[in-house]
Amino acid sequence: MSEIHGLAVHAAGAHLLAYKYDPGELQANEVEVKISHCGVCHSDVHLIDNDWGISKYPFIPGHEIVGTVVGVGSGVKDRAMGERVGIGWQADSCGICEWCRQGLEQLCAKAQPTCVGRNGGFADRVRVNSRFAIPLPAKLESENAAPLLCAGITVYAPLRNYEVRPSSRVGVIGIGGLGHLGVQFAKAFGAEVTAFSTSKDKEAEAKQLGAHHFVNTRDTGALKKVAGSFDLLLSTVSADQEWQAYVNALRPKGTLCVVGAPPSPMPILGGSLIAHQKAVAGSNTGSPQEISEMLDVAARHGVKAITERFAMAKANDAVTKVKKNQVRYRAVLTN
Ligand code: NAP
Ligand code: ZN
Repeated sequence: MSEIHGLAVHAAGAHLLAYKYDPGELQANEVEVKISHCGVCHSDVHLIDNDWGISKYPFIPGHEIVGTVVGVGSGVKDRAMGERVGIGWQADSCGICEWCRQGLEQLCAKAQPTCVGRNGGFADRVRVNSRFAIPLPAKLESENAAPLLCAGITVYAPLRNYEVRPSSRVGVIGIGGLGHLGVQFAKAFGAEVTAFSTSKDKEAEAKQLGAHHFVNTRDTGALKKVAGSFDLLLSTVSADQEWQAYVNALRPKGTLCVVGAPPSPMPILGGSLIAHQKAVAGSNTGSPQEISEMLDVAARHGVKAITERFAMAKANDAVTKVKKNQVRYRAVLTN
């Protein structure tokens, strides 16, 4: 196969530059996918800036990919040429450890992210283990579905794993790419939904997406007013927050689940967790099986990303806009 062309970052915080690489022989378990759309997740920005110290330069970011299968490895039985698939944060796992066998591939010690030590979706094509190229329901439009592959699954999985149901009260903290999908999925689960945001201009849209309540977290005392209110608080923010106030906002047996990583340790009094058996937890994307289920739920319940479209060549503009928290609500690059 021919060279793959994309946009790569060569050093922490640098602009994306045109880049090509030779993908070599297609491995027996791989598919090659011709990319039509790729979302810009804030994790791409963290990788570009090496915020987590795991970036390997040069690399092509992008892990909310939709495209068409154009190459099928000799051992692949589950994907076919021409099929429309989605690829998220994960591109490979060992396939044989206890976690892979349980269908929790995101917990595999050999899990390979799509754009760490590999090249991702700001490109014309990409290759992954076929198990991580997931067929898309016909009803989903590629542009609105691409963000589901990372942002969507990352908010869907904890809603499901913490057993959100119609009696639940859920708060979504940060109404960005992840958060605006979190509000929609929480509504689909039947919960009473509260959006927590630093942007008061997002109130009307958050309510249209399914939030019953909106809390402007810049208002002093706003978190105090909702003490003891939530079964699940899902934080999609990667900045330090008033964590103790959020723990205080949980109901008995409630969980504060972080999916955005705050830069500092979270100051929480152990004692505040005990009396009402509260928990603080984290969640990592989701498995191929969970992604399939999430896509099916999205198709049936009309969950879709609100997108701002950029030509692939304008990826730097999209990244800049994400950094300024100006995208409503997910930038998607198109080829
Ligand atoms: P995003 O689109 O940039 O949205 C983040 C939102 O957080 C912003 O829209 C903003 O919402 C809020 N925010 C930003 N800066 C803030 C600040 N200083 N204080 C308070 N709130 C602030 O980002 P995203 O793509 O949704 O990703 C969110 C985080 O999740 C990133 O850190 C990303 O790396 C992480 N992530 C984790 C996983 C996982 O598996 N755990 C998967 C994907 C992404 P408001 O305007 O509403 O305040
Ligand atoms: Zn992501």
